[in-house]
Amino acid sequence: MKKIYFITGSQDLYGEETLTQAEKDSKEMAEFLSGRLGDIAVVEHTPIVKTAAEAEDVCIKASADKDCIAVIMWMHTFSPAKMWIRALQALTKPMIHLHTQYNEKLPYDSIDMDFMNLNQSAHGDREFGFICTRLGIKREVIAGYYKHDCVVEKIRRFAYAAAAVDFGKGMRVAMFGNNMRDVAVTDGDRVESEIRYGWNVNYYGIGDIAELMNEITEAETDAKMKEYTDKYDMDTDNIAAVREQAKFEAALDKFIAKENISAFTDTFQDLHGLNQLPGIAAQNIMAKGIGFGPEGDYKTAALGAVMQKMAAGREGATGFMEDYTYDLTEGSELELAAHMLEVPPVFAASRPKIQVHPLGIGGKSDPARLVFDGTAGEGIAVSMIDMGTRFRLICAEIELVKQPEPMPKLPVARLMWKIKPDFATGAAAWIYAGGAHHAVVSTALTSEDIRLFAKMTDTELVVIDSKTDLNTFEQQLELLDLKAKMKG
Ligand code: MN
Repeated sequence: MKKIYFITGSQDLYGEETLTQAEKDSKEMAEFLSGRLGDIAVVEHTPIVKTAAEAEDVCIKASADKDCIAVIMWMHTFSPAKMWIRALQALTKPMIHLHTQYNEKLPYDSIDMDFMNLNQSAHGDREFGFICTRLGIKREVIAGYYKHDCVVEKIRRFAYAAAAVDFGKGMRVAMFGNNMRDVAVTDGDRVESEIRYGWNVNYYGIGDIAELMNEITEAETDAKMKEYTDKYDMDTDNIAAVREQAKFEAALDKFIAKENISAFTDTFQDLHGLNQLPGIAAQNIMAKGIGFGPEGDYKTAALGAVMQKMAAGREGATGFMEDYTYDLTEGSELELAAHMLEVPPVFAASRPKIQVHPLGIGGKSDPARLVFDGTAGEGIAVSMIDMGTRFRLICAEIELVKQPEPMPKLPVARLMWKIKPDFATGAAAWIYAGGAHHAVVSTALTSEDIRLFAKMTDTELVVIDSKTDLNTFEQQLELLDLKAKMKG
C-alpha cells in the first residue's frame, strides 16, 4: 500500500504540555485523513517536528521511502522556518501544504493565550510558506478545515495525481517499430522522458510478437475469442480475420506480462510477420488500462497509462483518441475523432460490434476492429509535445456529444465533441500551442488533475477552457517561451 506522510511542524520552545497536545492532535488528524484517503494511500502520522535535525530526518525518510508518494505538511504552532531549509532541500516527494487547524470554530468563551499558542497555523503556516517560496519549492497549498468535504476532495485529487506520478517512475513502455517516418509531433526525447517522468521507453521488433504468435495454441485463441464475444457483438462472417487478432492479442498479453509493460506503440509502417494491423487486439488491451499510441507515438501511450492510473477508481473513461475531421456548420461546429482502427471501447455508448473492413493504408489484410458510437459528457483532451528544451502539456476542456446522425458507412469507432470556448477560439489555441493530432481523452479526469500532474512533474501546461481568450493565450505562450529561454 502506498503512503502519504503527515508531517506536523512545531518547535521546542513551547514546553511539554503544548507539544504533547500538538502530537495528539496531529495524530488524530492523520487518522481522519487516512480514513478518507485509504483507497488511494495510507496517511501515515510522523512524530511532531521540533528541530532542524528532526525536520531533515523526516524529509530524508519520506524521500527514501519507495512507498511514499507524497507528504502533507502543516504547522500546528509556529515553527521557525530556517529549521526547514535543509529538510526541504532534501525532499523529493510531491507536497501538500495543508493550511488548516485542529479546531474548526473559535472557542469564544474560553479562548486564552495557551489556546492561541497551541493553535496558530495562521502564523506558522505563513512562516513555512515563505521558506517554500524562497526556496522555489513546488507545492499545492490547500486552505480550509481538514474535515470539510471540499478540503478532503482536494487532498484526494492530489493523492490520485501523486499516485500516477509514482506509477510513472520506472514504468516500462514498448515501442514496436519506431516513430512513423517523417512525422514530427509524435516524436520526442526518450531520455528526457525518463529523466523527468521515469518512463523507460524502449524499442522492440514487431517480429518478437510475430514469433510469440506462432506459439499461441488453438485453445488460447479460443479463450481470447470467448473474451471478445462475451464483451462485443460479432458482426462479421470473416471469423478467421478476428482469430488473427485474437492470436495477436494473446501473444501481446504474454509479452506485456513477461516484460512488465504498461504502454505500447505500433506502426503500420512496420508490421513484418503480421497479416493485419492490430485493431480489436489493440482496442481490447487499451480497455484493460494499458496505454497505447499508434504510429510510434510513445508520449501519448505513456501519458495514457499514467492518466488511466490517475483515473483508477473514478467514474468515466480514459484513452487514446485522434483528431480526424469536422462538421463546420456555423455556430454548431463539431469535431469527429477516431482512428484507422484503434479507438478504445471504454468510450462506447453501447455494446461494440466486431467488424472486418479493408484498410486503405499499409497494404495488409482486412483487419478486424470494434465499431461503436461514442459516449457523451464533459471531458478533457490532453496532448504532450516535445518543445526541444522541455515538454508541454496542452489540456483542452471538451464536451462529448452524441453524434447528430448515424454514419452507416464509417467503418471505425468514433467520438464527437464540442471544442471550448467555441470552435474558432479553441481550435486556434490548440494549434498555436502546438498540440498534436493525438491526445488522451478522459471523462474521468478534469483539467485540475492535469494541472496537479504538471505541477508535480514541473511540466509546462496550457489549458484551453470556457474562459480562454486568444490574445491572452498567445501572450501566455510567449511568456512560456521566454521563461524557457531564461532557464537555458
Ligand atoms: Mn494517428
